Amino acid sequence: MKIFKNYSIKNSLNIKSKAKYYVELYDKKDFNSFHSFIKKEKVPILIIGEATNIVLPDFYNGIIVKPIFNQFIFNEDQKTVAVGSSINWHEFVLKMIENNIIGYENLSSIPGSVGASPIQNIGAYGREVSDLIESVDCYDYIEDEFITFKNIDCNFSYRNSIFKNKNYIIYNIDFTTNSYNNFNLRYSTVQKFIDSNKIDLNSINAMDVSKIITKIRSKTLPDPIKIPNVGSFFKNCIVNKNIIKTDRFSLDDLIIWNADNDKSKIGSARLIDLIKDQLDNFENVEIYEHHSLVLIAKDNATQEDIIDFARHIIDKVYENFNISLEIEPSIIFN
Ligand SMILES: Cc1cc2nc3c(=O)[nH]c(=O)nc-3n(C[C@H](O)[C@H](O)[C@H](O)COP(=O)(O)OP(=O)(O)OC[C@H]3O[C@@H](n4cnc5c(N)ncnc54)[C@H](O)[C@@H]3O)c2cc1C
Repeated sequence: MKIFKNYSIKNSLNIKSKAKYYVELYDKKDFNSFHSFIKKEKVPILIIGEATNIVLPDFYNGIIVKPIFNQFIFNEDQKTVAVGSSINWHEFVLKMIENNIIGYENLSSIPGSVGASPIQNIGAYGREVSDLIESVDCYDYIEDEFITFKNIDCNFSYRNSIFKNKNYIIYNIDFTTNSYNNFNLRYSTVQKFIDSNKIDLNSINAMDVSKIITKIRSKTLPDPIKIPNVGSFFKNCIVNKNIIKTDRFSLDDLIIWNADNDKSKIGSARLIDLIKDQLDNFENVEIYEHHSLVLIAKDNATQEDIIDFARHIIDKVYENFNISLEIEPSIIFN
């Protein structure tokens, strides 16, 4: 275990942020020392991966913890692979493709670490990580105990899981290696790309699908290294269609997918597109021109700037549609 004091935390929004303590954990044996350390310090604790989905304050008056676990071990009998939480997600996807394992390719190029993937059940282009996880190994830093969650016990749903706001450090995930035999190319954007580029589906392999997904993503999502962002700032909304206000816009103006029971999933990007001209200008944050769910931060942006702008968008969407947008990244308060 390594402990750093008053440490700058790199994050994809480029917010200038420091933590009272920054701690790196390298080994299961470090958890015990970490437990003793937090008992002594009695301050808030935040676990991070690559900080691509968090909105940090200027100063975090607590302990920011990064578990650094890099194992990648196949278990041929179980048809699983054990993967360390700090491995970069896209590098992991590429490794699965190299090993001829199907099912991961649609999740190519999602920023961040393997360890964060179950937290919000990352998903894209018709696949969610919950389709691929066998089990998740955690350390409960308050109870000082190890827990393994089987997939069924993770309570996965759209951008949600049992791991949100819990005292768990995820240090290993077992992924399945034999869940899928075919590619999932049904998502409309993927189909359109295949049609317009006249791609022959008979000669396509997992690496081709991965490259297609990466190309599609690069058209609408900014690279956080060049343009600071956290990806989609708002989730799509699950609501009953009957509650939607239709005096300014009609239901035909919206993107509506059928979800479960009497609820529908409403595309939040379209809601924001429709009210964009009603929004005030904010100095340090704006909506990305190619994707209305993405907020991009300018050089001096603070957490407050970003939250103020997000609240302004939420208010306008509510005023126009009677729909409450929900924020996707974790907002970290002091
Ligand atoms: C350009 C861009 C595009 C994106 N596209 C998508 C997309 O298509 N689909 C999608 O679902 N997401 C997307 N995201 C969001 C982001 O990629 C994911 O949420 C990713 O899983 C975050 O990984 P991270 O390591 O950066 O997590 P962090 O931002 O470091 O942390 C995110 C959350 O996970 C917790 N956490 C992190 N690691 C651990 C751990 N080891 N143990 C316990 N808790 C932990 C943190 O406390 C925090 O609450 C995008 C982000 C960007 C910037």
